Amino acid sequence: MSDFTVSEAMAWIKASAAVLDREAAHLSDLDAAIGDGDHGANMKRGFLAVEKKLDGTAPADLGALFKTVGMTLLSTVGGASGPLYGGFFLEIGKRGAGQSAWDAATLAEMLKAGLGDIVKRGKAELGDKTMVDALTPATEAMTGDLAAATAAAAKAARAAATATAPLLARKGRASYLGERSIGHEDPGANSLALLLETLADTCKG
Ligand SMILES: [Mg+2]
Repeated sequence: MSDFTVSEAMAWIKASAAVLDREAAHLSDLDAAIGDGDHGANMKRGFLAVEKKLDGTAPADLGALFKTVGMTLLSTVGGASGPLYGGFFLEIGKRGAGQSAWDAATLAEMLKAGLGDIVKRGKAELGDKTMVDALTPATEAMTGDLAAATAAAAKAARAAATATAPLLARKGRASYLGERSIGHEDPGANSLALLLETLADTCKG
């Protein structure tokens, strides 16, 4: 697969809805340990709403598609992750307006722009035990063609999500727990890793 087009983007988002449906209980268990236990249900609800919204539609370009994803997540996910994931996809939609194909380097730039929006909204820094910890190394790992770049991103995100366990949470509800947040993986870093693993799966060709 050479370029990331509307058809790959649609496949990614639909597959993500299925993955989040399957992994909702696990994500909520992670959130129950250091938050309020709703992250899996929230992400599942959001992506199933996105899938429904996109069903039977043919977005004009990547910008239009990701704008729809962002708007829908913003209005359905709720919690702290709604605005963060919504803003992430909205930023990608804004940057991608009118574009119908991205090579691997452009996809990496889009994900970096989305990360920039998350950082701006959430004010999280690397090591705060958030989704930023997974997304930052993932975007930096993206080299080579689309299959290689997305596989590297997925691998980096998963490793980083696992590596959030020993960290002290400094953002969000988990930060109220202080030292007790140590020893649990961050649920947002995990949902991010799931999305990037699904992206890699979609792009492996
Ligand atoms: Mg929660």
